[in-house]
Parts: sequence; C-alpha cells; structure tokens
Amino acid sequence: MAKKEDTTVQQTSVENKLKALFELQDVDSKIDEIQTLRGELPLEVNDLEDEVAGLETRIQKIEAEIQLKNDDISSKKNEITNSQTLIQKYEEQQMDVRNNREFESIAKEIEFQQLEIELSEKRIKEYSFDIQNKKEILNDAQARLEDRKLDLEQKQKELDSIVSETQKEEDELVAQSGRLAQLVEPRLINAYKRIRTNALNGLAVVSVERDSCGGCFNKIPPQRQLDIKTHRKIIVCEYCGRILIDSELLFQEDNPEQEIVVAEEEVKEPKKATKTKAKKTKK
Ligand SMILES: [Zn+2]
Repeated sequence: MAKKEDTTVQQTSVENKLKALFELQDVDSKIDEIQTLRGELPLEVNDLEDEVAGLETRIQKIEAEIQLKNDDISSKKNEITNSQTLIQKYEEQQMDVRNNREFESIAKEIEFQQLEIELSEKRIKEYSFDIQNKKEILNDAQARLEDRKLDLEQKQKELDSIVSETQKEEDELVAQSGRLAQLVEPRLINAYKRIRTNALNGLAVVSVERDSCGGCFNKIPPQRQLDIKTHRKIIVCEYCGRILIDSELLFQEDNPEQEIVVAEEEVKEPKKATKTKAKKTKK
C-alpha cells in the first residue's frame, strides 16, 4: 500500500501538489469555521451541566440539614412532654407528702423539670431560626437551579441544532480533506499540519499578495517570488514558514497534458524542496 501511494505522489507535479494543498487548506478552513461556530457551546453546556449537578447536590445537602434540625425539634418536643408528665406526677406526689422536707425535695424536682422545659424551648427557637435561614438559602439555590436548568436546556437545543445542521457537512469536508491529503506525500502533509497548528488563523498555505506573504505580510524578495511563480519546488515564507503559492496558479485552468510533462521533469525536485522546507520550519 505504502509503495503504491509513493509512486502516485511522485507522479504528482509540484504544481498539482500546491493546488491540492491550497484546496486542502480551503477545506480545512471550512472545518475550522464549523468548529468555531459550534465554538464555546459545548463548553458552555458542560459548565452548565456541572453547575446544575453542583446545585442539586447542594440542595440535597441543605434539605438533609433541615431534616436533621426538624428531628432535633421533635426530640426536644418529646423531652418537653416527658418533663410535663414528670411535673404532673410530682405535683400529684406533693399532695401526699408527709413533711415539709419531702415537699421541698419534690418542689426541686419540679423546678428542675421546668428548667429543662425552658432549655428545650430555647433550643427549639434556635433550631427554628436555623431552619428559617437554611430555607432561605434553599429557596435561593432552587431558584438558581431552575434558572440554570432553563439555560442548559436552551444551550443544549442550540448546540443540537448546530450539530445537526453542520454534522453532515463536516463529515463530508473531513472525508474530502482526507482524500486531498492522499495527493501529497505524508512528509509535506505533516509539515502542513504543523504550520497550521502554529498559525493563529489556521492558514498553512497562503498566496503572494502585493509582493508579500499572505500570512504574515512580510515582503518576499524578488528572486523568491520568481521561484514561487515557476512552481518548480515548494517554497515557504522565511518569516512564518507558511507554504507560499502563486495566486495566478489558483486561477489557472487544469491542463493535464502539460502537467504530465512537468511531472516527469520534477520527479526528483520535490524531495529536495521538502528537505529545505523541513529544515526551515524547524528553526
Ligand atoms: Zn509569512
């Protein structure tokens, strides 16, 4: 397989490789555009999902805390009932006392239980106050949760619609990009990908515009421009490393017969050219 591909690549003229690279650049830029369109949405959806999950956990935690406080109130109420039962029992016992000392002793028990009731009532007030505060926090969290859920639903819908609108197009472009990449030797494709990754605008192949590199806008020396115009080898910008292409080539009609002649002449040239280029991009 690899050998067969090699011969196809060798038969491709520099001119055709440049055209293929330019077309590849065009297709890859369209893929970039689709991904930019989708852009922040997948991230925003993720963030919202995290926030919703966080709020749900928080709400569960607050609800559990409120439940605990309610349980505490119930147990304090039970303690009060117990104390009241005891007091009632003590009061009955007081009726049957034989002396003052017994009466005083029972009175102390009653007083103790009354203090216990007061203390429990105080705790109940504190717990109720706590619950009130927690309920306010809970309401805020629930309101925010509802808000975020709506946001999430909306963003998810947006993302789904963009994905469904663009997925087919993207798949086709990715396939096209793969086919075009087959027309150029892997080494050159790798260089192309590397330049693209490093370039802010994702452009690895640019045309010469007004004697300058269409990528970084630095002036290109006349001799270099001539080399670019002859399409005898692949030339990169000495400043930004982008592959330079003569804009006239882009508007040229395909002439297969002529290309075959050029291809035969060029069989050995492209390798040299890519070597020079590879060294340059490494700098
Ligand atoms: Zn440049």
